[in-house]
Amino acid sequence: MKKKIAVYPGSFDPITLGHVDIVERMTEQFDQVLVVVSDNASKNSLFSADERVALASEVFKKNKKVKVEKWQGLIVDYVQKRKAQVIIRGLRAVIDFEYELSMANINRQLSSNIETMLVFSKPEYYFISSRAVKELAKNKGMLKGFVPKNVELALKKVMK
Ligand code: ADP
Repeated sequence: MKKKIAVYPGSFDPITLGHVDIVERMTEQFDQVLVVVSDNASKNSLFSADERVALASEVFKKNKKVKVEKWQGLIVDYVQKRKAQVIIRGLRAVIDFEYELSMANINRQLSSNIETMLVFSKPEYYFISSRAVKELAKNKGMLKGFVPKNVELALKKVMK
């Protein structure tokens, strides 16, 4: 049978427990989940794409179904290259909705054979965003419960 592969794209600057939850839940549904770190020079990120890949790879190193890669360019091209069928996006509050809807429609226009699936975040994670985490780190707030341990350490190091 054909392998069911999902692609989970994002900035992951850095990966949070909200992202981790989505990935772990999706590994129950798919044979493989490819976490794709966008290497987009126009967005100024705290961590480089390679650092973001390293942090996320560390988190999923024991999960054989998950692979982390960086990608520059259109996500639909990555999906085709990896012979995946689905793009996963996480949905927190209604503010995510419009953006996700337009991205899903653009991607459908580009590649009608790729389906976008939106996954609701768990209530305990819906308020977590990479942006909030960076703000917390900058102000020496407690990061426990927001990000995995290795990310906490990396944030403390860069914010020193
Ligand atoms: P982007 O910059 O592409 O929005 P992000 O790294 O911020 O990338 O997020 C990647 C995906 O994960 C997006 O679909 C986003 O809505 C989702 N996401 C982010 N934080 C959470 C969370 N706490 N719970 C569930 N989904 C989330």
